[in-house]
Amino acid sequence: MPRVLLVEDEPAIADTLVYALGTECFEVTHTLTGADALAAAEREPFDFAILDIGLPDMTGLEVCRRLRETSSIPVLFLTARDAELDRILGLELGGDDYVTKPFSPREIVARVRAILRRSQTASPMQQGNPDAVAETPLHHDVSAMRIHCHGELLDLTAHEYKLLLVLLARPGRVYTRDQLLDQAWEDPGAVTDRTIDAHVKSIRAKLRLAKAGAEDLIQTRRGLGYLLSL
Ligand code: CA
Repeated sequence: MPRVLLVEDEPAIADTLVYALGTECFEVTHTLTGADALAAAEREPFDFAILDIGLPDMTGLEVCRRLRETSSIPVLFLTARDAELDRILGLELGGDDYVTKPFSPREIVARVRAILRRSQTASPMQQGNPDAVAETPLHHDVSAMRIHCHGELLDLTAHEYKLLLVLLARPGRVYTRDQLLDQAWEDPGAVTDRTIDAHVKSIRAKLRLAKAGAEDLIQTRRGLGYLLSL
């Protein structure tokens, strides 16, 4: 039974989440403050953390930073305002996903399941298990600086390669067009947001060429940017 640490100071929201996760066979520990959450995490291990950003004693981002000092626990952030969302997207905290309020408890359960699945398939790959690599749709050959999709070599331009590499480094994380420009272009000032869209379109076409349906690996988050969904 996966153990979930839920940190949320609004009792009504917390109650619906504890109930929804409980009926889906998650074991939930709920705390109202960041300090209580960190104390709970010291007492027992958790498989997952759901962190509200606006807590009475510290931000959910701070809780995440402290949790990550000792573990690589997957995190889902709950945000109430666009201003908070900007901070999540702007920081490299290692948070795995976020949901903006109001949300449905079912959406949270679905996200938690997806992230847990992702982190479980990611860990054997990081340990160099060749079987796990073969099952991953995208494989990066670091020394040859090439990316394969379902075993097919992708014929990428230098910028397409770098762009896909940024997304590949953190599957599930949404990157804004500006962030992609910053990370994949040496001179981001010389190009526009449309450049990213054009390159994504081209990469998708090449993914599709490697395997029908593989173009969906790159997903669009409307009004925000792109993410890789493995
Ligand atoms: Ca709150």
